Amino acid sequence: MHIQADGLTDYICEIFNAAGCSPAESRRIAENLVDANLTGHDSHGVIRTPRYLKWLTEEKLLPDRDISVVSESDGLLILDGNYGFGQTVGPLAVERGIAKARAHGVAIVALRHAGHLGRVGAFAETAAAHNQVSIHFVNVAGSVLVAPFGGTDRRMSTAPVAIGMPAHDGEHVILDFATSLVAEGKILVAAKGGKKLPDGSLVGPDGEMSADPTLLYGEADPAVTPDDRRGPGAMTAMGAHKGSGLALMCELLAGALTGSGATGPDYPRVYNGMLSIYMAVDRFDTDDAYADELKRFITYVKSSNPVTPDGEVLVPGEPEQRTREQRLKEGLPFADDAWAVIVSAGESVGVKAP
Ligand code: NAD
Repeated sequence: MHIQADGLTDYICEIFNAAGCSPAESRRIAENLVDANLTGHDSHGVIRTPRYLKWLTEEKLLPDRDISVVSESDGLLILDGNYGFGQTVGPLAVERGIAKARAHGVAIVALRHAGHLGRVGAFAETAAAHNQVSIHFVNVAGSVLVAPFGGTDRRMSTAPVAIGMPAHDGEHVILDFATSLVAEGKILVAAKGGKKLPDGSLVGPDGEMSADPTLLYGEADPAVTPDDRRGPGAMTAMGAHKGSGLALMCELLAGALTGSGATGPDYPRVYNGMLSIYMAVDRFDTDDAYADELKRFITYVKSSNPVTPDGEVLVPGEPEQRTREQRLKEGLPFADDAWAVIVSAGESVGVKAP
């Protein structure tokens, strides 16, 4: 089934409002989740609604929190998200980082204890819209899902990285991915009848590579959001030892250095830490050459012969941009199972599907 973005946003907004978030926060959450669906990252879209509601009920995620400043100097800001929604405390941290880099040329912002930050590339897009380069390392304390290279037991989170660079005319290049071979939400989508997983996304306790979501969730009741702690296996890191190493550095930068905590089995909550670096392009670009050079290089890269005759070389950020254009026109696709889970989450707080 296909659903239009505007109507879906209103529906999700109503659900969070009924669950106890303020109207402004409910709208931020709804817009952020629907935007992830629009960019093609259904894993970080409205399918997250039941899980957010569960965390709200369990007080693992707190409504309408503000960030607080742990310490501040010229180039560095350390913030606490106080377990508030990532859709609230994330943008507040990004706003502060952009303002600081505008004043000093460069800024580093450490954010600890943020609720799920969703699609991290959205922050890089915001910085790029302010003509800033940004780099974001994120970890998910308490979400032990990914086996390190050479191991079968879970030790790391899906620890995403995003790097954004502004280009001419409001365009940008945005690289944004989980360091696991696939994002956890994609396994959730597959478990709910959505797109199948690539082979080797998971590893069993016997060391066998697999694409079977039950290795993460166990045998789950289809009407309930599966629990990713129940399966006997682990997710794998992308890029073998290199991706596993990058995940480890994300844990250390976003978890240990920010004071949020690198992931482990004993966290009562699941939350994000994020280390972000912002760079104001106008401070680097003394001869006004940056945008032309970026454009030249992107054109050069895209001119590589495609591997198939009808193929095309894309640069990071292009798939999301194209999917957004298409989905704004055609609506957002949902598998029946995935939609049923969202409808039942809405009904749990008294909101009927439109
Ligand atoms: P992915 O595997 O779809 O990779 C996305 C990146 O690859 C994007 O930069 C995209 O533009 C680029 N890309 C995709 N196809 C391409 C092509 N054909 N040519 C060139 N570039 C291409 O992403 P993922 O690993 O599934 O991550 C999905 C989302 O999950 C991300 O937005 C990430 O931030 C988010 N995430 C969030 C958390 C959290 O806790 N907040 C945890 C993990 C992941």
